[in-house]
Amino acid sequence: MRIGEDVLGVLSRLEVDTETASVKIGDGQLDRKLYVSVNKVLEALGGKWNRGRKAHLFGVDPTAKIEHCLLTGTFVDPQKEEGWFPTPPLLAEEIVEAAGSGLLLDKRAAMPHGVLNGVRLSWGKREPEDILGLCIHQSASANQNPLRTAEYHAGPGNHITPGRPLPGLAYTFAIANDAGPPWLCTDLADKTWSQGSTRPGDENRHLVGIVVMGAFCGPGWEPPHARPGPSKAQLDKLDGLAAWLGKIFGFGGEGYFGHYHFGKSACPGYAVANWLEASRDADDKAAFASAREWQQALLRWHPEALPRYGADGAWGRESRECLTRFQQQHHLGVTGLQDPFAQLVLLHLYPETP
Ligand SMILES: [Zn+2]
Repeated sequence: MRIGEDVLGVLSRLEVDTETASVKIGDGQLDRKLYVSVNKVLEALGGKWNRGRKAHLFGVDPTAKIEHCLLTGTFVDPQKEEGWFPTPPLLAEEIVEAAGSGLLLDKRAAMPHGVLNGVRLSWGKREPEDILGLCIHQSASANQNPLRTAEYHAGPGNHITPGRPLPGLAYTFAIANDAGPPWLCTDLADKTWSQGSTRPGDENRHLVGIVVMGAFCGPGWEPPHARPGPSKAQLDKLDGLAAWLGKIFGFGGEGYFGHYHFGKSACPGYAVANWLEASRDADDKAAFASAREWQQALLRWHPEALPRYGADGAWGRESRECLTRFQQQHHLGVTGLQDPFAQLVLLHLYPETP
């Protein structure tokens, strides 16, 4: 495919680090359309945007490929011309490093998986740049072993998809008990259903699911086996894991959610909810100070989104229906409300451009 002049201009000014095989776009902020075009070429050459490093990572030095593009003014779009997608090694490096330094236990190989009619089930996939935050749960049982919860989820008797097994544990990480580091239970690229629902779109495309093992008191839920927890050690591990994920994917407290944000008020319980809300407050990046700012963001998504009243600052029926459509199309929880998750996704996908 031919490369446009404006894209060639950007490619000629890339900052290539041959040692780390990474590439930075040297011009500062590009407008969205130009960025998408440049990104398309870099991905076709085998690069993958990494939020944490703010660079495209290639695995091998891409200098020769980029020079070839500049010389010929063309590139091969693998999607259109060869029928395949280059698959990035999803964060493999970071995981190996964290496991080596004792920050997490890589338990993926040991986890039970769901099988239906002899076929091993698997989750849908997401890309690293899809990940904007995390969502915390409690296991709500006295069981401290995530393998047992995984057996339950991967069996037909689970409550999430009754009569059908799930592909595996419906969370990416588990904080097992007081003794060890957090468990990595599924690949970070797996879109698990850890918001706890089977409704289409409730897959965790944007959030990493974490379960804290134990039964903890929460609003409306205090059975005899529940205790006011989790322990201090579990909370510390949660804190460390959240910070590690935030560093890799580039989010702070504004990306911290609990299942209660999505309608399950007792999950993950008072203690974790308090920690979550304190973290959210500490990194309060709420950019929408008014209904008008919500409307302006919705108009960045779709210029015709508010045909009758536009960004008039009054949050009426047209605005509510528009936000509902936005949530539906982006596979978010459909609340029709100005909730913090809808705000996070709007801000991420349709940021204000200077
Ligand atoms: Zn939950």
